[in-house]
Amino acid sequence: MTKRTEQYDVVIVGGGPAGLTAAIYCGRARLKTLLIEKSLIGGLATYTDEIENFPGFPDGATGHELMDLFYKQAKNFNVKFKFTDVKSVEVVGDKKIVETFRTNYEAKVVIVASGGKPRLTGAKNENKFLYDKGISFCATCDAAANTDKTVMVVGSGDAAIEEGMFLTKFAKEVIVSVMHDPGIMDCNEIAKVEALNNPKMSFIWNTIVDSFEGDEHLSTVVLKNTKTNELIPVEVDTGFLFIGYIPNTDIFKGMLDMTGAGYLITNEKMETNIPGIFAAGDVRDSFLKQVATAVGDGAIAGYGAEKYIAESEIYENQILNEGEPSLVYLWNAVDPSSRELLPVIEAFEIKHGKTVRVTKVDSYKSKGIAERLNIKAFPTVVFINEGKVVQTLSDEISEEKLEELIKL
Ligand SMILES: Cc1cc2nc3c(=O)[nH]c(=O)nc-3n(C[C@H](O)[C@H](O)[C@H](O)COP(=O)(O)OP(=O)(O)OC[C@H]3O[C@@H](n4cnc5c(N)ncnc54)[C@H](O)[C@@H]3O)c2cc1C
Repeated sequence: MTKRTEQYDVVIVGGGPAGLTAAIYCGRARLKTLLIEKSLIGGLATYTDEIENFPGFPDGATGHELMDLFYKQAKNFNVKFKFTDVKSVEVVGDKKIVETFRTNYEAKVVIVASGGKPRLTGAKNENKFLYDKGISFCATCDAAANTDKTVMVVGSGDAAIEEGMFLTKFAKEVIVSVMHDPGIMDCNEIAKVEALNNPKMSFIWNTIVDSFEGDEHLSTVVLKNTKTNELIPVEVDTGFLFIGYIPNTDIFKGMLDMTGAGYLITNEKMETNIPGIFAAGDVRDSFLKQVATAVGDGAIAGYGAEKYIAESEIYENQILNEGEPSLVYLWNAVDPSSRELLPVIEAFEIKHGKTVRVTKVDSYKSKGIAERLNIKAFPTVVFINEGKVVQTLSDEISEEKLEELIKL
């Protein structure tokens, strides 16, 4: 089957809070934007009935309500949506090819907002009680609903123990299932000591989950002692699983830099190791994974996309100047020697501007253009002809030297 090809400025992979926010920013910047979502618009946020910590909603909102508002706002800015699975992303020159079952989407920028999924125990009946049926993955989200109740935490890593201690502020009892021998936990030593001394926390050692039981809602977690095979039924109101999180990054393996656990590594501008590919939200290696942080990431990635495309256009049209001579002055506004040279460049432009296109690039505002030209020190002059760099000049830039340069 020959695939169709469609062109976009920006393709966003994933329609959770990060992807939708990036879409709002890109759409509002009048970029031709496509968001591809493989299942439900709203991502993990739609798995919860109550989001109480997203600013602007003092009475809380359901995940669906909140995400529906994000979705409507993105549609108001003419963002297009496709409901399909992204199979791969490939870089061909400056273009990114986003492959789906029927269509290949060509984009100038790709924003990866594919989130992740909580790791499951694999115990019996687990799927029956996921999310609002008694198995939770988010203490921040579900602690208040467990006020004065009995909860179980499965896991003993930093997240499990820290979230477990947070739960003790609400629940009357937090029972922790630990797979190790008594006193051995995967968390840091300080958290361990605090947890062991917390009167609301108790531990069942050498256990894994054998099954989850209940009618409509979880009522019992059956633990299994890994040494004796004894089955230990524990009555609980909610079971919190903190045994890891799996980022949706399989399709980016070998292409985008990621941590050992598979989270994408970005800088604070949400840029990945590949120019023009950004990552935002839970898919990223980050300190906190919430709707508010996903929104912040999405905003930065959307803004970054706009800047990247604008810089690409300047680079193609102005810097490369359709093969005609082009002189680029890369300067830094806070550097005195850069400022001193400005009048020299401007005088040169008045004299030779008809034959050589002169462009001044503030390296702080347009870092991407300096990167494309591989210039790291400022001030620097780059002379380009027939679309290729002929020479760069960083030392003792003067009117005479500039005139010699354009004779080359
Ligand atoms: C039960 C639960 C309750 C929570 N409660 C709260 C709360 O109260 N407050 C709060 O702030 N946070 C809460 N969170 C956390 C919050 O939901 C996440 O931090 C947030 O959704 C992350 O947004 P995201 O856009 O980065 O990723 P996600 O929400 O994970 O969205 C990623 C999207 O990408 C899609 N996708 C993945 N791969 C592909 C592909 N190859 N092609 C196309 N689409 C793809 C997925 O289907 C998904 O829709 C909760 C999480 C859970 C699980």
